[in-house]
Amino acid sequence: MGPVNVGLDIGATKTLGVVVDAEGEILAGVREATEPGSDGVVRTAARVVEALRAATGEPLPGTVGVGIPGLVDHERGVVKHAVNLGLDGDWFELGDLLGDRLGVRVVVENDVNAATLGAVAMSGEDDLVYVSIGTGLAAGLVLEGRLRRGDHGAAGEVGHIPVDPNGVLCECGQRGCLETLASGSALAAAWPSPGQVPPAQALFAAAQGGDPKAIALRDEFAAGVASAVRVLALAVDPRTVVLGGGVAQLGEQLRVAVASALLDQAASSPFLASLDLAGRLRVVPSSYPVAAVGAALLGR
Ligand SMILES: [Zn+2]
Repeated sequence: MGPVNVGLDIGATKTLGVVVDAEGEILAGVREATEPGSDGVVRTAARVVEALRAATGEPLPGTVGVGIPGLVDHERGVVKHAVNLGLDGDWFELGDLLGDRLGVRVVVENDVNAATLGAVAMSGEDDLVYVSIGTGLAAGLVLEGRLRRGDHGAAGEVGHIPVDPNGVLCECGQRGCLETLASGSALAAAWPSPGQVPPAQALFAAAQGGDPKAIALRDEFAAGVASAVRVLALAVDPRTVVLGGGVAQLGEQLRVAVASALLDQAASSPFLASLDLAGRLRVVPSSYPVAAVGAALLGR
């Protein structure tokens, strides 16, 4: 086996691990349920790496990259505000604790930033914006080949751009944020779905079936995502915009809905139309572990 890297995507329900080669090609993959809390997160991550060592028959002594939700200080390898993982206290020294346990160097990155690096590997484009539509709405930026984290780590936090002064109160304390219109939790509130079908899938299926209320909600959601894409494109003008996150499990139908909303928004503006935002859109294939691959490439 040539030079390889290990990446982990630690999420609230599952932890994905991959081994990739220098080009980001996936050589092995493992998935485990995430145990919550600081001990649980470290234990799960260590178990996933051990499983990757077993799967490849290699000691995997290189750097392990980790993508995790919450506020991450990349330099120190620490995380906080990862509330869904039960890490809601002070800075948690994930990098040091996991590194000691595994006997390797561990680097830690915010999961959206990690996924953005994965989107670069996936698309072959090194000037792109990754829009993560999960529980919330956030973006990652790789501009001219460099990840832009921001001076306060807040680059790409487009979900908290207020667009409606009379809108819903957002958990960030502002009113009418884009996230309250265009996110997995906004969809779940607007279209509660019984059983195992995720709300996004249920809503898009109902709209496809001709339900007028579903069509209106789908189009409103797509317009919210399109607004985020427009803000990002007008701010940094990336070559490519990649849609990802849990809601991107919708695949091509998500890209089509957002592209259609972008075309609507550009219909009265030759300026906006000339930027061809709809033509720059791509969506992460539902089976591609974009954040784990990006996390692996952190250690390159
Ligand atoms: Zn907000």
